[in-house]
Amino acid sequence: MYFLSDIEQKYLLYQLLPTARDVGVNKELRGWSWHQPPLKPYYDNVKLPMYAVCSKYCPTGRDVYLRYVAKILPVLNSKVALGKIIHGVVSDCLRAFIRRCNLDFDSWWSSVRWSEIPDKPENLREPSRLVWEFVYKLCEARLAEVSSRQPYASELDLIASAAPFLVEHKISGELLGLSGILSLDCYDYLKAIMFDLKVASEPQEWHRLSPVGYALVFESIHEVPVDVCCIVYLDVKDGKVSVRRDLFFASDELRQWWIEERDRKLEIVAEGKDPGMPERSQCSEDCMYFKVCYE
Ligand code: SF4
Repeated sequence: MYFLSDIEQKYLLYQLLPTARDVGVNKELRGWSWHQPPLKPYYDNVKLPMYAVCSKYCPTGRDVYLRYVAKILPVLNSKVALGKIIHGVVSDCLRAFIRRCNLDFDSWWSSVRWSEIPDKPENLREPSRLVWEFVYKLCEARLAEVSSRQPYASELDLIASAAPFLVEHKISGELLGLSGILSLDCYDYLKAIMFDLKVASEPQEWHRLSPVGYALVFESIHEVPVDVCCIVYLDVKDGKVSVRRDLFFASDELRQWWIEERDRKLEIVAEGKDPGMPERSQCSEDCMYFKVCYE
């Protein structure tokens, strides 16, 4: 899941990291420059969650207006349910592995709070089980490989080398105009890579905004540079788990794009301004506000 393949490892070492060192990041666009423009938020009375800033699912941002100004709750659908449950599977399985607790899939499944998942359990059980087993096997394989190279290391050391992940790390985005209770999918603290997990999604350029946003937040709080981000596209089809990763440099352009989106969304909420609707063809019937906008 968050383990890079050999080819991605080469790409990281020989392409991305040298680029990050050569090109660098403008110091005004590091998260620790949160107290000055352009990172300093113009409106300090509004705080938004990361997904509200980064989602370009609605081209005009009307979904943000409906949720945070008109206070209309979205209608959650089965795609959202799958995303929620698989995020839970990945993070809880990884954390169980890292903490060496004896948690198997069935025990985990019986602890799911179904009031928060907008779909029937029977629709989600099989993909969840497949992903759980997939993540667990990957972790075990990585641990076996690390153990074979370091026979004198303690179990704690081995786990830290095999799965060096902060999973669902809680962090405040308040310095950048975001919610105080953000939770990032995964941060690899040995390679300094910010990961973001997408479930059953077609890759989009704007998906890069979210991990870049978390990289900025991480820099604002911990004051360590995060130059590389990665989106993990996970899907389950015909009984098979598929994973694709988009590994990239958190460049100045992406950081500026994130700031523009943040400023635009904060303005919609702070000014209570309805940004209007895009062309009908740009609205998907899967949009959680489709009924509100068209009925
Ligand atoms: S239906 Fe269209 S305008 Fe309304 S929130 Fe969705 S994408 Fe935006």
